[in-house]
Amino acid sequence: MSARPLASPAPAPAAPRAPGSGESQVQRALKKLGLARDIDFALYLPLRYEDETRIAQLAHVRDGEHAQVEGTIVDSEVVFRPRRQLIATLDDGSDTCQLRFFNFYPSQQKQLAPGSRVRARGEVRGGFVGRTMLHPVIKAAGTALPLALTPVYATTAGLAQPVLRRAVQAGLARTPLEELIPAELLPHNAWTLRAALEFLHHPTPDVALAALEDRSHPAWQRLKADELLAQQLSQLEARRAREAQRAPVLRAGTGDGSLHARLLAALPFSPTGAQARADREIAADLAHRQPMHRLLQGDVGSGKTLVAALAAARCIDAGFQCALMAPTEILASQHFGKLVGWLDPLLAAQGRRVAWLTGSQKKRERDAMAAAVESGEAALVVGTHAVISEKVRFQRLALAIVDEQHRFGVAQRLALRGKASEGGDGMQALEPHLLMMSATPIPRTLAMSYYADLDVSTLDELPPGRTPVVTKLLAEHRRDEVIARIHGQIQQGRQVYWVCPLIEESEAVDLRNATATRDELADALGETVRVGLLHSRMPTAEKQAVMADFSAGTLQVLVSTTVIEVGVDVPNASLMVIEHSERFGLSQLHQLRGRVGRGAAASACVLLYAPGDSGRVGQAAKARLTAMVETADGFEIARRDLDIRGPGEFLGARQSGAPLLRFADLGTDQRLLEWARDLAPQLLDRHADQAHRHVDRWLGTRAEFLKA
Ligand code: ADP
Ligand code: MG
Repeated sequence: MSARPLASPAPAPAAPRAPGSGESQVQRALKKLGLARDIDFALYLPLRYEDETRIAQLAHVRDGEHAQVEGTIVDSEVVFRPRRQLIATLDDGSDTCQLRFFNFYPSQQKQLAPGSRVRARGEVRGGFVGRTMLHPVIKAAGTALPLALTPVYATTAGLAQPVLRRAVQAGLARTPLEELIPAELLPHNAWTLRAALEFLHHPTPDVALAALEDRSHPAWQRLKADELLAQQLSQLEARRAREAQRAPVLRAGTGDGSLHARLLAALPFSPTGAQARADREIAADLAHRQPMHRLLQGDVGSGKTLVAALAAARCIDAGFQCALMAPTEILASQHFGKLVGWLDPLLAAQGRRVAWLTGSQKKRERDAMAAAVESGEAALVVGTHAVISEKVRFQRLALAIVDEQHRFGVAQRLALRGKASEGGDGMQALEPHLLMMSATPIPRTLAMSYYADLDVSTLDELPPGRTPVVTKLLAEHRRDEVIARIHGQIQQGRQVYWVCPLIEESEAVDLRNATATRDELADALGETVRVGLLHSRMPTAEKQAVMADFSAGTLQVLVSTTVIEVGVDVPNASLMVIEHSERFGLSQLHQLRGRVGRGAAASACVLLYAPGDSGRVGQAAKARLTAMVETADGFEIARRDLDIRGPGEFLGARQSGAPLLRFADLGTDQRLLEWARDLAPQLLDRHADQAHRHVDRWLGTRAEFLKA
């Protein structure tokens, strides 16, 4: 442990310059904290505060309390028990207290010489040698006391607290902080932004600290309102920018001869009410000149693929092409299999078909597919991101469907948007309609906040005839019981998934590897049971062969890594075993569980967990596993996942591209969020200039990113 500075902090020395960089160490450190513009400093709020506004009487300070005391050093010595240390005794007239320092400078020793009067601040601890302050901050006695609490900011290496404090103070003083929101539009009795920020950096000592901590103080309320408003404004702008764009108008009839009608007639089931509603919502969007920007969200098994197929059919009926892109080859090929089965027989009459495009295809095959896309023979193209490769030119792309959209980056989404205009011939300057699909429902507040520029269709109803999956938690050492269960399922003609978290033995992490697990299971289950293995490092062809064997029922048990997480659809599988389930994320567990319970058979999910060295699983892991046992509702799971992880991780930085909220908390600030949502259009319409400045103040250069 290093000693705290003994003397009151001297003015910062001129910061050392890195050779040739022209940027000081301090500037670099500030940049690292995201502090560049004056407003960035003003919005950089303290982590906590220290109270240097009063001098306490030692006799009134309780053990364990932080206090500032002032008095005379009556004794000072360097002792060696057990380590070299400086012990000075301070007497403030009411009581005495030892000040102890390991590692100290001679200057400090001098400052604490008997007879000097000093001010010491730190935690007062009781002890059998008397009361002690370990490494207190020492200042000269008698200097004026500050009137406000002292802010403590989060800092980084090479940036001392006092230097940062002064930089923040200077930025705050320089920023104009003029009011950009007309007073009549602010919540009743709102503080001004200037007053709120001044207060939060330097609160008066009489403030109720709890109101600062839970951010319910009016100063915090004002700040959070502004932040939420900036977020709403920037998304509203993004929405309006999009609405200024043009997409092909898809307004085909759904009469008997249409592909849409023939698809519905050919299905062995009828759409659920939720699917029909989503289909209508999409149809309404497609009929507009503005590109659709819609998220189709629905729990695992809710039947998103059919909604996608119906949308594709509408697009094809209108004389255009549709593309469906999925993040992994397995997922894409599952979609392809379904869509080919549904649509190819119907398209054949028109001499058209569903094409398949992926990076792992043989060049000849891929070229042939690309040619079919370019000629328009391919009415629908399904594949991985190969679909948006430069070499693929669409004849008339009007609708792009993206599954698990959060797995694609901003660049890929932009590339997709450029794919329509390639068609030339009336397609110039047009953008495709965009339908995104996600099996991780987004809780309402999150959608309102981060996806305000998105329209959402929700499949809140599962197709009939599903039996709920029973979820069981089992400690790792009860594997034998699981093996018995697997036998039971196989005897009934059912199939089983066994999911492992890693593919290869790693010394660092003691996880069973999938290969070993496969062998072990094959041993335990005996020769009559066929156990397959699927992991991400296998060549694509091999993966597809294994999946095909499992789909066909040739394999009864499939050991895999999380490659089966999304989309895999084998209705005969009725048991899912997840090893080391404590290591998986909640949404991921829910996705995995969604692989079973897809048919009419009663299904189960066994979560095997391995307690840590402490004999227990961690807090967060426990919360995840408990949620899995308690609910199978994807929306409830998503809500709890958000609770456990917070919005940052829940959304994933890539998914949103949107800057995360720093101050507002969607859990507690829903009313402010609603206020911001209602105000944003008024402000943008009536005070556009102020609205832009407000967004710039809060988001700066990051605002541009949002429009992607
Ligand atoms: P997800 O929303 O998880 O992508 P899928 O689209 O894979 O779900 O659908 C899950 C299963 O339900 C598939 O086998 C699909 O064919 C079937 N399905 C979809 N819609 C219905 C429906 N309306 N009635 C009966 N089964 C349906
Ligand atoms: Mg799916």
